[in-house]
This record gives sequence, C-alpha cells and structure tokens, in this order.
Amino acid sequence: MAASRKLSTFRLPPLPTIREIIKLFRLQAAKQLSQNFLLDLKLTDKIVRKAGNLTNAYVYEVGPGPGGITRSILNANVAELLVVEKDSRFIPGLQMLSDAAPGKLRIVHGDVLTFKIERAFPGSLKRQWEDDPPNVHVIGNLPFNVSTPLIIKWLENVSCRGGPFVYGRTQMTLTFQKEVAERLTANTGSKQRSRLSVMAQYLCNVQHILTIPGQAFVPKPEVDVGVVHFTPLVQPRIEQPFKLVEKVVQNAFQFRRKYCYRGLGMLFPEVQRVESTGKLLELADVDPTLRPSQLSVSHFKSLCDVYRKMCDEDPHLFAYNFREELKQNKSKAQEKDDDKERDRL
Ligand code: SAM
Repeated sequence: MAASRKLSTFRLPPLPTIREIIKLFRLQAAKQLSQNFLLDLKLTDKIVRKAGNLTNAYVYEVGPGPGGITRSILNANVAELLVVEKDSRFIPGLQMLSDAAPGKLRIVHGDVLTFKIERAFPGSLKRQWEDDPPNVHVIGNLPFNVSTPLIIKWLENVSCRGGPFVYGRTQMTLTFQKEVAERLTANTGSKQRSRLSVMAQYLCNVQHILTIPGQAFVPKPEVDVGVVHFTPLVQPRIEQPFKLVEKVVQNAFQFRRKYCYRGLGMLFPEVQRVESTGKLLELADVDPTLRPSQLSVSHFKSLCDVYRKMCDEDPHLFAYNFREELKQNKSKAQEKDDDKERDRL
C-alpha cells in the first residue's frame, strides 16, 4: 500500500527558479497587461493547498505566466494540468515545465475569455450536480481587469451549468484585488456589500481564504490581493434566470446610499414607477426603507420571484431600461427646445 502511494507521488525535478526563468526568457512584466508575478514557491504552494485536495485532479489554470502557481499545482500530484496563457512570451518557459512533467501539463496559447473548457477534460469526470464536486478545479492569478468580468461570466455558467460547470460543481480558486475579494464575500449589512456579493452568494459558497500583501508580487501592484474559493451550491438561493437576477440586483444597488425602493423603482417605466415599485416591495414583503446593502439574499429571492411574475404579466417589462427612457426623454426635451427656438426666429 505504502509502495503504491509512493509510486503515484510526483515531484518536479530541480529546475531554474522563477526569477531565473524570467531572466532566461526575458519575461519582463508588461504593464499594459497588468502582469504581476508570484516568485515565492512557498506562497504559491500555500495558494494551491487552499484550493483543496488536488490528488488525481484535472486542473485548469488561467494565466500561468512564468509558472509559479503552475509548479505548485504539478507538485500537488494532479492527473493533468491544462494552462491557458494569452502572452506568447511565456510559452517556452511553460514548455520547459511540461518537459519536466511528462504527460501532465497541456499548454494552450489562448484567451481564457473565449477558451472552451467544456470538452477539454474526459467526459468520465462528470458528476451529477447534486453529487460531491467533481475532481476538476479552476485556479488562477489573473490581471484584475480580466478576473472581474470572468467571474461574472463563470457565475452565469454556474447558473446554467455550462463552461467549467459541465463537469458538475467545479471548485474555483481565484485571485482578486483585495477590495473585490471583500465584496464577493461581504455579509448583509456590511460596508462592502455590493452587487457582486449577491450575485456570487446566491449561486456559490464563497470564501475569502487568503490575503497576499502586494509586496509578494513582482512588480508590486498598488493593492493587496485576496484569494477567493468558490463552490457552486447544489440549490441556488434564487431560482430565476441569471439575467433577471442580475437586473434586479443591479437596479437595487443603483443608489447605494438611498433607500432600496429608489433603485428598485428603476425597474419600471416612469408612468407606473410609484405604483409598481410599491406592489413589488409589498408582495415581496421587503421594507422599502432598507438600504441596498441591508438586503439579504433571501430578500433578493422574494424580489426576483415577484418581479418575474410581473414580467410574465407584462411582456415588455423585462426589456425596459430606464437609461434608454432617460435618453429618449432628453432628446424629446431637446427637440421641443429646438422647435421653440425656431418659432422665435
Ligand atoms: N499566474 C502567474 C503568477 O501568479 O505569477 C502570472 C500572473 S499575471 C497577474 C497574469 C497572467 O495572466 C499573465 O501571464 C498574463 O499574460 C495572463 N493573461 C492575462 N489575460 C489573459 C487572458 N485573457 N487569457 C489568458 N491569459 C491571460
């Protein structure tokens, strides 16, 4: 038994350090791509340990760069690691890692925002949604301007069980600007509570597992970094289409400091705003004088359920966008002013 365990344990052979790799392949961080590298392998080991038990796992690493986290993942005894990197300068360094870990590392030169992970791993890994999570993990330290749109896309994927979630409740461990990590995990009533908190928490169990000081990165970013772990919930806390939930949540947080009825009112055309907002809040049993940050996920569940009924009764309602109405009103007012001006001349 001990022998077979020993046989299946993999360690990378001695390799040049990440700093040496950066020098060797001239991988100076590109400022315009917001590249900040982790060179300390003790730290990358820690991040990877926090991702959970990766033994025999299939891991999708996004944005491997010079490969610090990549090395720690390979040393965690995974079955396979697939990395997707946009910047071609990193490919030779990653190829060196692949040679040191035969058959374990697959390198894709591509963009995580468009890469299709759905068919990249064996279909046999798929688990029922209600089962324990599959042995598939997503891990990444991406630039902040990519990680936020990506998490929104992946949350939508969780809701329709697409993308990385065709395998089941795939777990993700991702880095964010610390402030974003705090927003993702913020509780009801807290200062950081935002649209992201509700969108993440209605679909996933979200944990801020680690904070990494900015000085751990080269070059040092302006802010500290938070590592967040996501496990999709068996039962989403709101059972409505993602776009509908997104619309209700976005509107509610429109005016952060005002009572929630102000933002929620923007779901409705001006002519019916007061009446329909009153109806929404009354049927959802939500106090109109709560601030957006005081609304819990279960408040949002009631609001989304009632708004859904209202949309079913009025087929034009969901397409309504108050900004469009505002624009139209402005241009009508402008036309009137122009007419008056013409009459005067
Ligand atoms: N993971 C490495 C580390 O921790 O040292 C690099 C981190 S650096 C912040 C982000 C990496 O993501 C860079 O290598 C960058 O080229 C890559 N990247 C940025 N946008 C990407 C995208 N859309 N698709 C794939 N890789 C991307």
